[in-house]
Amino acid sequence: MNTRPFETEVRQLLDIVIHAFYSDREVFIRELASNGSDALEKLRLKQLTENSIYQPELELRLNISCDEENKTLSISDSGLGMTEEEIVEYLGTIAHSGTKKYLELIKESQGSSSSQDLIGQFGVGFYSVFMVADEVEVTTRSWQPEAKPVKWISDGKEGYSLGPAPEDTPRGTSILIKLKEDADLFAKPDHVRHIVKQYSNFIGFPIDFEGEQLNTVQALWLKNKKEVSAEQYNAFYQFVGHTESDPLGHMHFSAEAPISLSSLLFIPKENPEAMGFGRTEQKVSLYCHKVLIDSKPEGLLPEWLRFLVGVVDSEDLPLNISREMLQDNSLLRKISGIITKRFIKTLEDMAKNNSEQYGEFYTQYNRYIKEGVVTSWEHKEQLGKLLRFESSFTEAGKLTSFADYISRMKENQNDIYVLYGNKRAQLENSPYIDALKARGFEVAFFIESGDQFVIDSLMRMEEKNIKAIDRSDLDLPELDTPDNDRPGLDADAATALSSWMSESFKDQFEKVSPGDRAMTAPAMAMQGANDVSPDVKAYLQAMGQSVPETHPEIAINPHHPIVMKLEQLRQSDEALAKLLAGQIVNTALLRAGLLDDPAQLAENSQALLEQLLADK
Ligand code: ADP
Repeated sequence: MNTRPFETEVRQLLDIVIHAFYSDREVFIRELASNGSDALEKLRLKQLTENSIYQPELELRLNISCDEENKTLSISDSGLGMTEEEIVEYLGTIAHSGTKKYLELIKESQGSSSSQDLIGQFGVGFYSVFMVADEVEVTTRSWQPEAKPVKWISDGKEGYSLGPAPEDTPRGTSILIKLKEDADLFAKPDHVRHIVKQYSNFIGFPIDFEGEQLNTVQALWLKNKKEVSAEQYNAFYQFVGHTESDPLGHMHFSAEAPISLSSLLFIPKENPEAMGFGRTEQKVSLYCHKVLIDSKPEGLLPEWLRFLVGVVDSEDLPLNISREMLQDNSLLRKISGIITKRFIKTLEDMAKNNSEQYGEFYTQYNRYIKEGVVTSWEHKEQLGKLLRFESSFTEAGKLTSFADYISRMKENQNDIYVLYGNKRAQLENSPYIDALKARGFEVAFFIESGDQFVIDSLMRMEEKNIKAIDRSDLDLPELDTPDNDRPGLDADAATALSSWMSESFKDQFEKVSPGDRAMTAPAMAMQGANDVSPDVKAYLQAMGQSVPETHPEIAINPHHPIVMKLEQLRQSDEALAKLLAGQIVNTALLRAGLLDDPAQLAENSQALLEQLLADK
């Protein structure tokens, strides 16, 4: 036997596992049984694609036994086993980038109660055995006929020793656990039987325990919905999701045509990406009539559904399909289409019948729905209906939908109006709102980063165009009570002043025109109809790409005292009028977030002040 140290990260993980207080240490049995089951599933698939397999006649089973006297527990499988290289790689390093990230999070939250939550949320696989073990001995023989059997022994501290196992070691993996003093409960047959029964019904292979088969192999997803209890769904979710929480919701359905399909998918309560983990991996396994084809099939579901956990089973898939073939398989695309459609329907029903549950879902997963809007042309409109937002008509914190917005639209309102920003208060006080408010029109608020991309790609809802109210191309109906009686420039004067301003700032603006878009400020700056938004501009700049020239427009408010004064001043002191006008338009740009160069405003304001003070 030779001794090797664990990778640093493994040592850290083990340290956490051993010292953490687990509410349920028994989860290690679930982890080991599920590893065994995975190994059996993989072997079954190998049998379809490989010609020579060591001991092909071996039955595919798990075997569990315990020895109360010697305080040991053993779990073995006749699965695909591991070669020496494999065991060194799998049980000495941390391959999953997700696990590394998980480790960092735990370290950051060390000592706080959330570190306990984190540990419970995400299983740590094989290493969980060291919660209960003084020493673990893994004996394994690979399915590859020429591979030598190996033995791996570790106390879960610094490292492990590795050496040859007896020649008569059968194919598969056997794990012998020497239990810690305080974990001798796991050597008691009644206790072990009880735990194994809890998890084992989802394992697709017989589990023998002391001569008795503990499980009736059943695939929950193939059962009739009516025959499955809430407890069974939860237990299955905990099994496939390696978690101790209950799911937020699930979808269970079967279809016969056009494809024979059964699926059981869960929405986890917590979204790991929102907790700081990187992009999560696909966690829906693909089966062909109970035989696992691929535990992470690429392309089974669209990317935006990567938060789902569960199983898809289709009898129509060829059993011996390879991963490469899967990827460009038209059947897979059809399956993907059917499931996506059904899942959207599930969300629609949830939103309709259980708004509290949908609210919880939306808080955790709205980014995925938005990602779907942007990336999935086919489901764009349907996903748009699932979006929720605050608006100028809702109370703070209360969400509404486009359907509700549309039901509240005024008779003379043609478009849906939206405004982007960082928070509600900022949007409520935006000068853009005034013109809409004056007409009794509702404005939808979008305050998450990236929302603008989402709404830009949505473009329309129920045949109605979505218009951002900070742009120039709004087609607003006349006000019911025009401002004719209020003091202000008459139409000719307003047009003359606008033309003069257009000319004075022709390099900066597409045009300057009078109107009622600005109601409280002297002027308002708007993005040109075809301009890229400030968000997109910032993004392009950050990516080092060239930014298309923008053409903002200015609406002046002929009723504003400053504008009225400006028109007079233009006649008497054009130079000063120009500085004042510069101040008005640059302030409007600043307010609109469209001022590219703050120096422009500073210089203008300094020149203006100098002029004003010149004669004093
Ligand atoms: P995970 O199961 O999440 O990959 P584990 O730490 O539980 O993480 O296991 C690491 C790897 O060790 C597995 O991916 C698998 O390749 C290998 N392994 C673990 N248990 C067995 C087993 N019983 N038979 C064959 N390989 C195994």
